[in-house]
Amino acid sequence: MRIGVPKEIKVHEYRVGLTPNGAAELISAGHEVFVQSTAGDGVGFYDADYERVGATILPDADEVFEKGELIVKVKEPQPVEYPRLKEHHTLFTYLHLAPDPRQTQGLMESGCTAIAYETVEDREGRLPLLRPMSEVAGRMSVQVAAAALQKSNGGRGMLLGGVPGVGPAKVMILGGGVSGSHAAEMAVGMRADVTVFDRSISKMAELDSLFRGTISTRFSTKAALDDAVKEADVVIGAVLVPGAAAPKLVTHDMVKTMKEGSVLVDIAIDQGGCFETSRATTHDDPTYIVDGVVHYCVANMPGAVARTSTLALTNATLPFMRALADKGTRKALNDDPLLAHGLNVDAGKVAYKPVADDLGLDY
Ligand code: NAD
Repeated sequence: MRIGVPKEIKVHEYRVGLTPNGAAELISAGHEVFVQSTAGDGVGFYDADYERVGATILPDADEVFEKGELIVKVKEPQPVEYPRLKEHHTLFTYLHLAPDPRQTQGLMESGCTAIAYETVEDREGRLPLLRPMSEVAGRMSVQVAAAALQKSNGGRGMLLGGVPGVGPAKVMILGGGVSGSHAAEMAVGMRADVTVFDRSISKMAELDSLFRGTISTRFSTKAALDDAVKEADVVIGAVLVPGAAAPKLVTHDMVKTMKEGSVLVDIAIDQGGCFETSRATTHDDPTYIVDGVVHYCVANMPGAVARTSTLALTNATLPFMRALADKGTRKALNDDPLLAHGLNVDAGKVAYKPVADDLGLDY
């Protein structure tokens, strides 16, 4: 199959849909790979790296879409890309169609087959192509919190791990799922005093056995959170209620009770945020202060570590790309119901019920 890799054009998006190693694997399986010139520059994968493994570099996006049958990307197509997509294309990328009627319309009109990373499932019903980005955001949340705690950034002037004779910072993590557990791992590594709040008993049992006494777990109730935020130096919001906006677990009144210079990191901001005082920020200007409390609410945290994120994402997507390329789209979807779960738009119609329901379209 001919695989096309266009350069991402969304603002501040440096990731690329396929690495040179991924290209090498596809080429050695007999496929052809066409990469838009400079597509990987932002993460240190240069045209020469792709050429070395046998990929063809093309000067512009139009040619990549023209040559490619399977188009692999990272972010959802932008309006200028809709007309480049045709009936014979299979698009494999993050789409997030439910809040995006314009893109949905664009994909329907193109007639292409669009498979969304975010709805591909594994056997346990988890989302294996979302997981790597939650891992990145969870791990990164602790390093941004550590920086925000510094005096020059508006923080309390505390070191997360303290030093001998001086106690560590108190880090409270709301939600012990993928991002929350990775945040806990980093915070423990930096010797902070870590408590994870969740409402899933089985999740807390899993964390308790994994961390063997190096963290505390607490059942997440309003009263428990009320007490804990007053004492916290850092609160990391990592909750998810699938298919719903994030619950506002920390109200503005609770923020008013927090210590001056304490830090809130809202990973769940992409679902509306779990602090009442959260509003989405960007990597250019990631923090702001409300009632003396530093807020970090960047909605695309993995973008800041685009190289790690590209590698983590493509590790997860490559096996599915192989299946699509080796078998052809139809057979790959027929053979694997978990990949088929990713089918969002097919031959002009929405093929994923929750998107059709949200947008009031036929399914
Ligand atoms: P997950 O499903 O693995 O974990 C969510 C956890 O929240 C679960 O353990 C669940 O039991 C818990 N939870 C639900 N309600 C709760 C409550 N009231 N109190 C305490 N815990 C509660 O989800 P995840 O993959 O870790 O993702 C978390 C959020 O991070 C999502 O909104 C995701 O979209 C977001 N995310 C953001 C970025 C970013 O750049 N900002 C990147 C990746 C993921």
